[in-house]
Parts: sequence; structure tokens; C-alpha cells
Amino acid sequence: MFPFVVVFIGPPGVGKGTQAAILSEDYVIPKFATGDLLRESLRNKTPLGLEAKKYMDSGQLVPDQLVLDLIKDRIVGLPKETGFILDGFPRTISQAIALDDILKGLCHTVNLAVEFKMDEEARILRLTGRRLCPQCQKTYHIVFAPPKTDLLCDVCAISLIQRTDDNEDVIRQRSAVYWEATNPLLGYYRNNHVLKTVDASSSIDSVLLQIKNIFASLK
Ligand code: ADP
Ligand code: ADP
Ligand code: ZN
Repeated sequence: MFPFVVVFIGPPGVGKGTQAAILSEDYVIPKFATGDLLRESLRNKTPLGLEAKKYMDSGQLVPDQLVLDLIKDRIVGLPKETGFILDGFPRTISQAIALDDILKGLCHTVNLAVEFKMDEEARILRLTGRRLCPQCQKTYHIVFAPPKTDLLCDVCAISLIQRTDDNEDVIRQRSAVYWEATNPLLGYYRNNHVLKTVDASSSIDSVLLQIKNIFASLK
């Protein structure tokens, strides 16, 4: 059993979603990615999704309250002993404080914050080559993690797409927002003595092993 609450922090493209997907299967725990939840709301044309769209298209953060509503819904129903991974949330100090509040009510706390660290240039290559399945949302990379056949999802056999915000201008904007609003979270979690850093520039398997080793050290 894995009873821990884990948050993943890092700029766009470092591999948070890729690792969260693998770990969620391996440890049989849920993972919640606010980006995925927002894109799902948008596909379903909910008022929240439509409101979030303008921020996402321009690479700005969606207002806290919208994101908090989405994430709270998912966490509150979970059995108390179930751990989970949060990918892309919190993204601001105020979201981190709100998360602590929600968790307190559930007798939980953030047990681990994983910082994904890598240099800028390699990160941009990851983002421009990122593709995803429009049906199951599985993430691929045209060079580093290609599907078995010609840009078709391995699971659904339909054509992969590129996220509309994975273009150079919006990538630049999302990165700037990260350094300004999200990077300060590292200090927040360092002060809480739960911060660990992984070298995100290595292979998917190597990053996975680093995180699993950290998981194994949790008490
Ligand atoms: P994030 O969730 O942090 O934005 P993703 O997990 O979506 O990042 O990864 C960005 C892109 O890089 C995807 O195309 C993914 O397939 C690829 N990728 C992820 N981890 C690695 C890795 N360790 N080495 C090479 N490519 C990777
Ligand atoms: P990335 O690949 O940059 O990690 P995500 O899929 O996590 O992208 O996020 C895509 C977009 O969704 C962000 O640019 C932002 O507009 C919005 N978003 C996702 N998570 C949050 C959050 N916790 N707070 C505010 N906005 C968010
Ligand atoms: Zn698919």
C-alpha cells in the first residue's frame, strides 16, 4: 500500500505527466493532473472548461478557484489510506496553502514534493516533439517515446495530435509563468522538509528509478 501524498513540480516538458502515468500504474494509486482535468472540462464544454480556455491558450495560469474546485472534487472522495500523485498542482504558493487546508480536513499532508530539474534547451525539444492521443490522452514523443506504428496511439490506433499550447510562443509564456509563480514553491516545500530533486534530463527509466528510490525511503 502507498499512503503518501506526492506533488510533482517542474517547468513544462520535464516529464512530470509521463512519470505520473507510469507510477500510478505501478503503485496502483490515482494521479491527478490539473492540465488534463482542465482539458477534459474543455472537451466536455463545461462552463469551467470554457472559462479556463482563454488562460490556457495564452499560457497563463487559470484562476485558483477554478483549479481548486476541480482538484478538491477528486481528492475529497478518496479512502483515507489511499495516497495519490498531483501533477501540475499546486502551481502557486496560494494553491499550496489551499491544498494543505484541504488535506488537513482529510487527515492527510503533503509527504513529498519532487522537483524535476533539467536544462532549458532539452526541455523545449521535449515539448515541440510531444504528441498525445486525443482519446486516451497517452503522451508520446516523436523521437524519444514514439508509438509503435506511425503516429498512431498504441492503445487506440487513432492519430496522435499536438497540444495547441505546445507552440513556441505559448511554451515561452508558460515557462516564464513557471519561473515567476511556481518555482517559489520549492522554497515552500523545502521549509516543510519534504522536497527532493531528481535529474529529469536522463532517460524515462532512469528518472523512474530515481523517483522509486525516493518513494522507498518514505516513512
Ligand atoms: P510535463 O508533464 O512535465 O509537461 P511530459 O511528461 O508531457 O512533461 O513530457 C514532455 C515530452 O517529453 C513528452 O513528449 C514525453 O514523451 C517526453 N519525455 C518525458 N520524459 C522523457 C525522458 N525522460 N526522456 C525523453 N523524453 C521524455
Ligand atoms: P505543462 O505541460 O505545462 O505541465 P499542463 O497540462 O500542466 O501543462 O497545463 C496546461 C495549462 O493548464 C497551463 O498552461 C495553465 O493554463 C493550466 N493549468 C494547469 N494546471 C494549473 C494550475 N494548477 N493552476 C492554474 N492553471 C493551471
Ligand atoms: Zn489512445
